[in-house]
Amino acid sequence: MAKITLNGRPVEAADGTLLIDVAKQAGVAIPHYCYHPALGNPGNCRMCLVEIKGAPKLMPSCRVRVADGMVVSTESPAVAAAQSGELELHLVNHPLDCPVCDQSGECGLQDYYMSIGRYKSSMVEDKRHFEKRKPVGPRVMLDQERCIACTRCVRFLAEVSKTHELGMFGRGHQERIDLAPGKTLDNPYSGNVVDICPVGALTDRDFRYQVRVWYLDRSDTVCPGCSRGCAISLHTSTQRPWHNGARRAARIKPRFNPEVNGYWICDEGRYSYKALDRDRLGKVLKLKPSRAELSWDAAFSEVSSRVKGLLEDHGPQSLAVVASGALSNEDWRSFKKLFVDSWKLVNFAFDPAPDQAGEEDALLRRRDKVPNLKGGAALGFGDQIKSLPWESLAHSIEAGRIKGLYVVDRDLFGVWGAKTPGLLEGLELVVFQGPWKGSTGDLAHYRLPATAWAEEDGGFTNFEGRSQGYRAALPPVGDAQPDWRIFEGLLAGLRAGRAE
Ligand code: SF4
Ligand code: SF4
Repeated sequence: MAKITLNGRPVEAADGTLLIDVAKQAGVAIPHYCYHPALGNPGNCRMCLVEIKGAPKLMPSCRVRVADGMVVSTESPAVAAAQSGELELHLVNHPLDCPVCDQSGECGLQDYYMSIGRYKSSMVEDKRHFEKRKPVGPRVMLDQERCIACTRCVRFLAEVSKTHELGMFGRGHQERIDLAPGKTLDNPYSGNVVDICPVGALTDRDFRYQVRVWYLDRSDTVCPGCSRGCAISLHTSTQRPWHNGARRAARIKPRFNPEVNGYWICDEGRYSYKALDRDRLGKVLKLKPSRAELSWDAAFSEVSSRVKGLLEDHGPQSLAVVASGALSNEDWRSFKKLFVDSWKLVNFAFDPAPDQAGEEDALLRRRDKVPNLKGGAALGFGDQIKSLPWESLAHSIEAGRIKGLYVVDRDLFGVWGAKTPGLLEGLELVVFQGPWKGSTGDLAHYRLPATAWAEEDGGFTNFEGRSQGYRAALPPVGDAQPDWRIFEGLLAGLRAGRAE
């Protein structure tokens, strides 16, 4: 360990740690733009200069490693003057776009101007002009005038995604960020460049001009897009035009978790929040023989007594359950209590169904596009309690061995295609439970609305067996309830039926 003095305070740090990180660990924030813990330290922004006793000049703290006996100041008059001067240099050509810039409110230039800048500008010449609205890919817009040439985006695309779409072009005051010839910024991780750009040069085309960031609330949660389970922050607001005053999701940002996703997320996960407002179920419905709205109590009692009748007439093998790997750990526990311990069912089919296998790569994305098959596996689903192959489930329905189906959040059209209506029509009972409308739900006798991941507390266990909890960020849609509560309600309905 190296013992140093930082702003007059004794501080200990592992030998060789960068000074900027040592200061951070000691609670001293050193301004910086180009340095990023996952992308290295080119030292080109010169914002992190500090004074080291005995050094002939100010040193960039992102380039200097700590050594025993160092005496460092991050707040001497020389440091303050240098940082303020560097900031003025960064702002010499920066346009005054703050009133219309999406970065406003979370911008490195604004923040540092208020904390360490506050100089009187000596700039009298015109600012340089570059392209202001350049769509560099389907998800990212570039404003070249706002760029401060920190090169974080270039390094991300070279070192992390390894796709090399952006580069620095020109020299001196003509230096600017631009697409490499023949390239489009359309790799599966492109949204991360928006997160790491410290200013408003790279903005998210989806989020542009939708909500001012100070209207956002932030909730720690977990991405449901695949079995990686990236740590994310779901930003919600009441302000997007189509929210009509209701609190809904506005964007997703990665949340640092060194064990799971580091600093990054993929674009599929980033835009998965859009599904939260698409084709949602909010009413408890009986659809057959005629359509009627039910209270939850009526639904619990009707569905459980229909199931009881079916099982008494044809035995536990006559009802099959199709389950989604999107259930939370809490849902899986109640799922087991209801279907295995109480109803004693034996026929189950789990994800991943053939339509749920997607692309994967060595960075984050996983092939199975459901977040929590492991949560079910921990309770024996897929192992002691085997999943029926989807084709043999279809054959058992056609052969009349299965007379009822309880579908939890799966659209069977994705598995069986056009055969699905024919298969479901002959069944005595079909119950559909889930957050989203879908053709399967339309063919059910009962349709029970469940909350989506963002509207409930819960936990997912990722493909490596790591459990992560998440909190509700949004109110439920209509009368939707968490899946576990629906299972418990059916259990209570069954018990009430027994008591009668
Ligand atoms: S676009 Fe943003 S991240 Fe890229 S070099 Fe410019 S300021 Fe840095
Ligand atoms: S890799 Fe998977 S869990 Fe991570 S953001 Fe993408 S979809 Fe979500």
